[in-house]
Amino acid sequence: MEFYNSKISDRKQNSRLRQLNPVDRTENALLVNGRNCIDFSSNDYLGLANHIFLKNRSIEYTEKYGTSSSASRLITGTLPIHLQLEEQLKSLYGREALIFNSGFQANVSILPALTGRHDYILADKLCHNSLLSGCSASRASLVRYRHNDLDHLESLLQKYTEKKRSAVWVVTESVFSMDGDIAPLNETGVLCRNYGALLYADDAHATGLYGYQGLGLAAGNENTDLLLVTFGKAVGAFGAAALMSKKLKEYLVNYCNGFIYTTSLPPSVIGSVSASFEMLTGMNRERDKIHFNSSYLRKRLKDTGANYLDSNSQIIPVVTGSDSRTLMISEKLLANGFFVSAIRPPTVPEGSGRLRITVSAKHSQEQIESLVQVLSNA
Ligand SMILES: *Cc1c(COP(=O)(O)O)cnc(C)c1O
Repeated sequence: MEFYNSKISDRKQNSRLRQLNPVDRTENALLVNGRNCIDFSSNDYLGLANHIFLKNRSIEYTEKYGTSSSASRLITGTLPIHLQLEEQLKSLYGREALIFNSGFQANVSILPALTGRHDYILADKLCHNSLLSGCSASRASLVRYRHNDLDHLESLLQKYTEKKRSAVWVVTESVFSMDGDIAPLNETGVLCRNYGALLYADDAHATGLYGYQGLGLAAGNENTDLLLVTFGKAVGAFGAAALMSKKLKEYLVNYCNGFIYTTSLPPSVIGSVSASFEMLTGMNRERDKIHFNSSYLRKRLKDTGANYLDSNSQIIPVVTGSDSRTLMISEKLLANGFFVSAIRPPTVPEGSGRLRITVSAKHSQEQIESLVQVLSNA
C-alpha cells in the first residue's frame, strides 16, 4: 500500500494525477459542470452514436435476444446476429472478419497469439498503448522504429528477417491517435512483402472516415495481413473486428485467448454496429464535411502560428508543451464553452503536452472559427 500511495503522490506532485471528469450528454451537447459545451474531443466523427437507426436496431436485437449473450463465442455466445455481422463485414472488406469485444482487447490479445519467443514485432514508435501492451504480453522481441520512418523500418527488416525460423510482424496505426498524422501504409506493405514480413494495421481512427466507402485506409491495401477496425469511434457503437485471411481467422479462433475466454458482445451492441455499417458506407457527404472542417481548422491554426505537428487528419493536436501551460489553456477553453482534451505525459512524450482537438461532421465553420479565436487569445 505504501508503494501505491507513493506512486499516487508522484503524480500529484507533478500535477499529473489522472482523474475521472464527470460529464453529461444530451443528443446534441456535452454538459461539463452543468454547462453546455461544444465538444472538440469526441471520436463520434460522423455523429452516429445518437442516430435513431442505430438505436432502433439496438432495441430490436435486445428485445429479441435479451441484454446479454451470456456465454463466450465458442460455447453458446454465437447468435445468428454475430455471424450476420461477420458476414456483413466480410462482404464489405472482402476478408474474413472476427469480432472482438474492444479494440484494446483485440490488440492486447491478438499479438501474443500470433507470435512466440523466436519472433519479432517491429512497431512504430508512436503506436497506441493497446498495441504496445499486446507486444509486452507476447513472448516476441519488440523493436520500435522511428515514427513513420520507412528507412529505419527497412534497416530493421533487413536485420530481423534474416533469421529464417522467425516470424516478423510490423505493427502500425493508419491514422495516429495522438498526432493525427498518417502512416505510409502502401510503402510499408510493399516493404513487408519484399522482406517476407507480415503487416498488422490498426485502423481505429480511419474507419468510417477514409478510403472506399469509408472502410478505412488499410481496407484497400492487399499487403495488410491483419487489419483492425474498431466500433467505438466513427462507427458510433462499441467493439472491434479483425479482418484477415480465412486461415488466420481459424487460427485466432483456436489460439487467441482474448477471443476465446470472454463473453461475446451483447445483442444491443451487435445491433448498433450492423446498422452503422449499413449507413456509414453511404456517408460521403459527412466524410467530405469532416475533411473540409479539418483542413479549415489546420489552415486557421497555421495563420495563428500554432504547432499542430504533422497532423493531416481530423485529429489535430496543438502542442502546448509544459503541463501547466496545457492545463491553463484547456481551462480557458472550457471557460469559453469549448471542451478539448488536455493530453500530457506519459500519454505523449515529455515536453509535448497538447490540446488534442478532434473535428466532426457536425461542427460548423463558425464554431471552428471561435475555437481558434479563444485558443489564440489563450
Ligand atoms: C481507441 C483505439 C484503440 C482501442 O479501441 P477500443 O475499441 O476503444 O478499445 C486501439 N487502437 C487505437 C489506435 C485506438 O485509437
